Amino acid sequence: MEISSIHINYMDIKKAFDSVQRESLCDPVQFNKRSLSDEDRLKLLKTKWIPSSNSYIYPKNNQNRRYNKSWENDYSWLRYSPSQDGAYCSLCIAFQDHPSENPRYNEFVTIPYNDWKNALGEKRGRLALHSNSERHLKALEKVVSYYRFRIREGHL
Ligand SMILES: [Zn+2]
Repeated sequence: MEISSIHINYMDIKKAFDSVQRESLCDPVQFNKRSLSDEDRLKLLKTKWIPSSNSYIYPKNNQNRRYNKSWENDYSWLRYSPSQDGAYCSLCIAFQDHPSENPRYNEFVTIPYNDWKNALGEKRGRLALHSNSERHLKALEKVVSYYRFRIREGHL
């Protein structure tokens, strides 16, 4: 009796610990303000945080809007940070350019994006604007040559 209850407690603790670890490992905030190893870059490019349940409800911001997971279908670089309720760009974090004083320039990279109301829109939507920004296109070029190199060297 005593042994089995200890066992159950241990399993509960382990389960809780495992789930926290899994979530925090995929949070882009872990990567965005430090120098990255190749392992970090791969992890960042190939993983993302996914809610533990399909019925997960993203928090509302002060405009009464929420992050929409379906945006990730059109913008594969998009990464949600559960710790900040903000969005980041995996490519621009993986291959960071020189820092800038311009907050718009740092949006999705060192500053989380959470103006959900203006996320979409062909011309002025922030997701499309980021996708076409010089910074993002430069990072994309670096990601492509990085993958080419890894494949050539037999690492992928
Ligand atoms: Zn980007």
